[in-house]
Amino acid sequence: MSSDADIQTTLRGFFCSLCNANLPNMPSVEQHVKGRKHQTLSTVRSTRKTQEEHSVFVSGIKPEISQTDITEYFEQFGPVTDVIMDKDKGVFAIVQFSETDSIQAALSCVEHKMKGLKLRVKPREKKEFKLIPKKKNDPQNLQQVLDRLKPDLCQLGSVDAQMKFIVERFQLGENEKKARSLLIQLLQEVFVEFFPDSQVLPFGSSVNTFGIHSCDLDLFLDLENTKVFQAQAKSTMQQSGEGVSDDGRSEDSILSDIDLSTASPAEVLDLVATILNRCVPSVHKVHVVSTARLPVVKFHHRELNLQGDITLNNRLGVRNTCFLQLCSGVEERLRPLVYTIRYWAKQKQLAGNPSGAGPLLNNYALTLLVIFYLQNCDPPVLPTVDQLKDMACEEEECEIEGWNCTFPSQPIAVQRSRNTQDLCSLLSGFFSFYAKFDFAASVISLREGHTLPVVNFLDQTKEDEIVQEEQRTKSHPHRPKLGPLNLLDPFELSHNVAGNLNERSLRSFQKECQEAEKYCRSLQFQHKSTKGKSWGLVRLFTPHVEVEHNKTELPTISIPFKPAALPQVLGDELHVTGDVFRLWFRRVCSAVEVVLKTVLKCHVDAPQDSEFSEDAAVGAEDMETTSASINASLNDSAASVESQNEASPPRPADVGSKRPLSSGSDDTVSPHGKKPRLAKRRRPEIPPWTCVQKHAVWAGRRKVRRELMKDADCKPEGSCVELEAQVTAHITEKEPELREPVEFRVQLLMVGGTENTKTLLKLEPSNDKAGDFQDFFHFLEGFLPKMVETVLLKEEGSA
Ligand code: ATP
Ligand code: MG
Repeated sequence: MSSDADIQTTLRGFFCSLCNANLPNMPSVEQHVKGRKHQTLSTVRSTRKTQEEHSVFVSGIKPEISQTDITEYFEQFGPVTDVIMDKDKGVFAIVQFSETDSIQAALSCVEHKMKGLKLRVKPREKKEFKLIPKKKNDPQNLQQVLDRLKPDLCQLGSVDAQMKFIVERFQLGENEKKARSLLIQLLQEVFVEFFPDSQVLPFGSSVNTFGIHSCDLDLFLDLENTKVFQAQAKSTMQQSGEGVSDDGRSEDSILSDIDLSTASPAEVLDLVATILNRCVPSVHKVHVVSTARLPVVKFHHRELNLQGDITLNNRLGVRNTCFLQLCSGVEERLRPLVYTIRYWAKQKQLAGNPSGAGPLLNNYALTLLVIFYLQNCDPPVLPTVDQLKDMACEEEECEIEGWNCTFPSQPIAVQRSRNTQDLCSLLSGFFSFYAKFDFAASVISLREGHTLPVVNFLDQTKEDEIVQEEQRTKSHPHRPKLGPLNLLDPFELSHNVAGNLNERSLRSFQKECQEAEKYCRSLQFQHKSTKGKSWGLVRLFTPHVEVEHNKTELPTISIPFKPAALPQVLGDELHVTGDVFRLWFRRVCSAVEVVLKTVLKCHVDAPQDSEFSEDAAVGAEDMETTSASINASLNDSAASVESQNEASPPRPADVGSKRPLSSGSDDTVSPHGKKPRLAKRRRPEIPPWTCVQKHAVWAGRRKVRRELMKDADCKPEGSCVELEAQVTAHITEKEPELREPVEFRVQLLMVGGTENTKTLLKLEPSNDKAGDFQDFFHFLEGFLPKMVETVLLKEEGSA
């Protein structure tokens, strides 16, 4: 355990109260306390403490009193190291001494008189040092911004008018656009000095018609022409044999800075950063982010208070910006919809990743979701990208990095939609559309204007072959990285624009769509309040408030449903039998047991399999209740609440077409031919599992695995049952037992009833004085789901 008093133990790990940071385990605590943030804050805090202990608070002064006057006066009590004046009003000051004795001397003086003024001298108040969290997405701040909008919104006559007002209120003004374009011009002039014929091209929200006041300035530095220029210059110089050094570069030309034909992208970005720093006035905070999908140089412009991003190789970004411009030009209802939905998503904290990376939707992805919805209205509001391609003429044909990016350059070339819905009904339609959307089964394609089955992207064998081929040819990936939300870029078809989203973010998105859908049906949404109350968009924009995490919530590991974990024949029947999920759950439970017992050498006191088989005969329509009730005896109410909260609404395929998996006689059928609900049946008595782990099987696994693999191809963690069992055996043989074995209970339950189904393992430690349970839990959190999948696939292979 760390001796740092700022670190507290919580049920989910540790918490650093100095930095407001949650930390999952001891290694991360150790890293955190050594890290820059913690160290800086510790130093600031101790400096503040020293200052507090060495200073007095002086009031009653007047603005005409100078710092020197105060210093001279207080030096009679001891050496003064600093005087901090209240700059705005000049009525108080803090006087800091070098010795604490001077404070006593100053405080014990009965009367302080200076230049005819009577001063009051008090000890400093001892304030607890606290990190003030960043304000931007703080719900209170979001609410304040909304409160300022409220009077204007409420006095408008319709939701349509409110949506148009949102555009007016947030869109980039003409002056802002002008300032941005002047900065681009300046950058162009500077860069062309270093990169002849280069071009600085804006893309993203500054120019895509969806920009807001604070949006960043995305720029693409196009160096294609510079490469051509350099190649020509080099060959001319070589022919004439002039000024060419050994490495073939010109010595006196500016080109000697960098040779683009051999420089790595990182070198080019470093040069871009240096140029920004040295040659562009008012630009500061320049840094290279080389880990981003597209490496970028970030900067800030002081006067314009503008965040800028410069990327190389981003022709597709420029092209998809033109696509968004075209869509806005074709359909005037798009901008009010996008601005409204972007603002709604911001208020609900569904979109916007403060540091660029993060698990939320970004604005580009959100805009594509709006366009996809409009393609699916009846009649469609916007054409598909394939239809747009067919409307383009020959000169408009465009291919970038092998992707077809053809569409008309002018909105006039695109036929008007026959859809006449107003903005208000399109907005509520958006929420209904995604409230019911089957994200788990679909890949969204704007190109085709409909979803593609996710199974088409899952074929494992083909996937492996393709990955090998990609590695061999070093070509672009052919398949998108699948995630909870799969949204294909309209042009770069192997790119999932929402690949960064996690389960939780998608769940919040869909839940907020469901809430919004409900609200849009209410009178408060559609009708202006005659009593001056909030109505229409105002309530829709109420910020999301994070519910404080239930402190007693148990650490939980989630294993999502995967069709691949089922025998092929059952996987195929996924859409016709809900019992597949129950079967899958049973298999996962057995696999978890195998992982704990066999792979991790944990002692597990687990229920017998027969207890599962009893309820296997229950009809599939009872499945959600059943799944929760498998665990009913563990935590009766908690299980049913989980089941209700987490279950998605049934999809048509799940309703009415289910049949029991068991082929035996169905003695649960009532005289009326209807199966009684499970709640009326005897619930299976499955106690929680009790587990004991005597060794730190999580510590140093990677090293042991590497040693065991020696020269063989290193297998990733959790991909081989035998190897992981050997790793555990190695640790248990070589390392001493833990001083206190880790004892914990495991509750297993299934939630959901569609492809969103998952198995939850709730772990409850008996006690964790040594902090080992936390370490074990955080290891299991990553290891167990992977290992369970490996066990399931292995079982299928050997079946
Ligand atoms: P804002 O800056 O207001 O959040 P934006 O549309 O500029 O909105 P950025 O995240 O700055 O969004 O992205 C700039 C541009 O980069 C987008 O317009 C798009 O062209 C491209 N882009 C952003 N994210 C992705 C992505 N995930 N996949 C492909 N292109 C993207
Ligand atoms: Mg942007």
